[in-house]
Amino acid sequence: MRKRVTILVPCYNEEEALPLFYRELNRVISSLSQYEFELLFINDGSKDGTLNVLRSLRKEDKRVQFVDLSRNYGKEIGMIAGFDHATGDCVITIDADLQEPPEIIPEMLKRWEAGANDVFGRRRQRKQSLGKKISSKMYHKLLSQVSDVDLDDDAGDFRLLDRKCIAALQSMRESQRYTKGMYAWIGFKKEGVDYDIAERVAGTTKWTVPKLFHLAADGLMSHSVLPLRLASFAGLTVSLCAFVYLVYVIIKSILWSDPVAGYPSLMCVILFLGGFILLALGIIGEYLGRIFMETKRRPLYFINEYTGNDENVEH
Ligand code: UDP
Ligand code: MG
Repeated sequence: MRKRVTILVPCYNEEEALPLFYRELNRVISSLSQYEFELLFINDGSKDGTLNVLRSLRKEDKRVQFVDLSRNYGKEIGMIAGFDHATGDCVITIDADLQEPPEIIPEMLKRWEAGANDVFGRRRQRKQSLGKKISSKMYHKLLSQVSDVDLDDDAGDFRLLDRKCIAALQSMRESQRYTKGMYAWIGFKKEGVDYDIAERVAGTTKWTVPKLFHLAADGLMSHSVLPLRLASFAGLTVSLCAFVYLVYVIIKSILWSDPVAGYPSLMCVILFLGGFILLALGIIGEYLGRIFMETKRRPLYFINEYTGNDENVEH
């Protein structure tokens, strides 16, 4: 029997890119007749005609399946929705904007057949502003250092995952997802395939700076307690300094009967400590908020329509 391969494509407002993407993908996979393909599109609450494009694609091509989510949940949730509905022996996640070339797919499948569980695409060079590049590098270094996962800055979501990896990712139902960290966390045999990242074919990027910032915070806080530890460490340092200073002030006033003066210095210390305490509280609050969100144990997403079976299921 032929092995089944699911191509998983999260889509948000991709009506312009989708036809081009489909044509390109179809060209590549038509040369891979030894596999049976499922093209699983996740419509992540698009506001444009993405759903109509998907419907017409499905009319022409029965390999096309789609999951229409009830609203825009973001790419991370879109991907877990895809993992939940993929029926293939392996899943290849790829963006709809052709920035990640489908030409790499045959090579990924080859590596999978040779025994790899997780074949990730690695960007050769990136067309990004210098600031973005440097901050991304630093962030990944920091995250790898403080958590027990080893993150590769140049590897993204373009990857092939076998059933073992998919099952592992499916078992992680946290709502604040940083999937890139999860790939590393689950382990299994990984292999990289290099590719050149292209410009978006159509449409615009959905990653705004606040969204990226949010994702970065999710990554750091869901994989480490470093911010909490830093707060305790800073607290300890400040207390030690304060103690030394206290001894100095007492000795000074006893030996030299120095009048203890200094409204300005007092103000500085109070304000500094006040600010610091608020900051530490904020960090604790961030974690507390995340715990609060997770304890609700809400379903990760709701489905409006799934072409594979026509149930309205919740997850
Ligand atoms: N995407 C999504 N939901 C979102 C934002 C993006 O499903 O809320 C999809 C988008 O359609 C694309 C992929 O995630 O297929 C990557 O998005 P984008 O190309 O905007 O990100 P970039 O390549 O700029 O990092
Ligand atoms: Mg893109």
